[in-house]
Amino acid sequence: MRDSIISHLQQQVEERQGELFALLAELIAFPTVSPPARNTLEAQRFLEEYLRANGFETELWEVYPGDPNVTAIKRGTQRETHQSLLLNGHMDVAEVGDSSEWHEAPFQLTLKDGRAYGRGTSDMKGGLAALLFAVKLLTEAGVELRGDLLFHSVIGEEAGEAGTRACMERGYTADFAVVADTSAMAIQGQGGVITGWVTIQSPVTYHDGMRARMIHAGGGIQGASAIEKMAKLITGLQELERHWAVTKSYPGFPAGSNTINPAVIEGGRHAAFIADKCALWITVHFYPNEDYESVAAEIEEHLLAIAQADPWLRNNPPTFRWGGRSMIEERGEIFPSLELDTESEGLKALIAGHQRVMGTEPQMGMSPTVTDAGWIGRAGIKTVIYGPGELAHAHAVNESTDMKELVDYVKVMIGFIADWCNRSKQGDE
Ligand SMILES: [Zn+2]
Repeated sequence: MRDSIISHLQQQVEERQGELFALLAELIAFPTVSPPARNTLEAQRFLEEYLRANGFETELWEVYPGDPNVTAIKRGTQRETHQSLLLNGHMDVAEVGDSSEWHEAPFQLTLKDGRAYGRGTSDMKGGLAALLFAVKLLTEAGVELRGDLLFHSVIGEEAGEAGTRACMERGYTADFAVVADTSAMAIQGQGGVITGWVTIQSPVTYHDGMRARMIHAGGGIQGASAIEKMAKLITGLQELERHWAVTKSYPGFPAGSNTINPAVIEGGRHAAFIADKCALWITVHFYPNEDYESVAAEIEEHLLAIAQADPWLRNNPPTFRWGGRSMIEERGEIFPSLELDTESEGLKALIAGHQRVMGTEPQMGMSPTVTDAGWIGRAGIKTVIYGPGELAHAHAVNESTDMKELVDYVKVMIGFIADWCNRSKQGDE
C-alpha cells in the first residue's frame, strides 16, 4: 500500500514541479548573503511557517542578531521504536560580487534551458526547497511516519559560523542525518578544516636603533624581531606540510590535500621599531580519519620543538589560538571531518532509495570542500552529505542548477524519508 502511494507521490513531483520552482523562487528572493550575514530572519520565518503548515513543531532561535536557526520536529507515531531522521541545510548564500556580471538578477529565479539560475540554486536553497517540497507532498498525502523527522535550517555556513554546531550543542539527535549541501546527488563524507593563529610576542619593545646591538657580536642585548622569528616557524610549517603529504593519505583525496596555508600575517608596529609582535593565521586541511584537536596538537608540538632549538624562541615560545565559532566575529572557524560508515543501515537505505528512482547506484566519495555535516557526525549521528547542485556552480557568477536533478532529488527523498522513518530500530518493519 505504502509503495503505491510513494510511487504516486514521485509521479506528482513531475507534475507539480511548478510548485517546487515557485518555492525555490521565494527562497532565492531573500538576499541572505554571508558575509555580511545577519540577514536571514525573514527567510527563516518563511521556512518556519512552511514547516508548521506541514505538521512540524518549530523553534526559531537566535544564533546572532538577525541570524536565527530554525529547528523543527514532526513527531513519529511510534517514535520510541522507529528510526528518526535529521535533515539539515543552510539558509545563507555566498557573496554575489559584482552583480553586473550576472546575466540574470541573482535574487530572482530564472528558468532557462533546463536550468534554474539564481544565488543559492546550487548552494543550497535548491536543496532546502527540495526537502521542503518532499515534506509537503508526504504530509498532504497523509503518509504515516512512525519515527521522528527533524528539520534544521541553519545560518552561517558560508562564513564558518557555528549554526549547525549550536544545534548539536542543544542536544538534538537522530538515528541518521542527511545534509543536503551541494554534492550533485553523490553520497559524500569530507575532510576537515581548522584555522588557527600562531603568535610570537616579545616581552620588550626595542627602537630600531637597538638592532645593531641585538644582532652583532658583543652587542649585549638579547632581543629578536618577531617577524624574523615567524619566518623560521613558517619554514617549519612547510616542512610539516611536506611530511604530512608523504606520510598521510585517505581514499578519495589527491595526495597532499592535507595542507597548511599561511593565509594572513600581521606583525610589527612601525619602521622605527623592532617588530615586537607577529601573528600568523593558518588554514589547516585534514583527512576524515583525523580530528581537529590532534591536528592542532601536532602543529603545536612541531613548532614548539623548533622554538626549543632557538635561544630566543625557547624563552619566548609561540602561543596558539585554534578555531572559532565565526570568521566574521572571531576570525576563526572549524569544520570537523566526516567519514562515511558504509555499513550503516541509514546509508544503505539511502543508496537503495536513490537506486529505486535513478536506476543506478549513487556515486560515493569525498567532498572536495567542507560542509556542516562534520558537526553532526561529531555529535555521534551517522551522517552523509547528499544534495542537489554542482560545486562548480556554487559561489559562482550566474549560479545555476539542473532542474531535472532537483526534481529527481525530491523523488528520492520522498521515498527515503517514508522508508527510513517507518523502519523499526530493531531492524524489522
Ligand atoms: Zn553549502
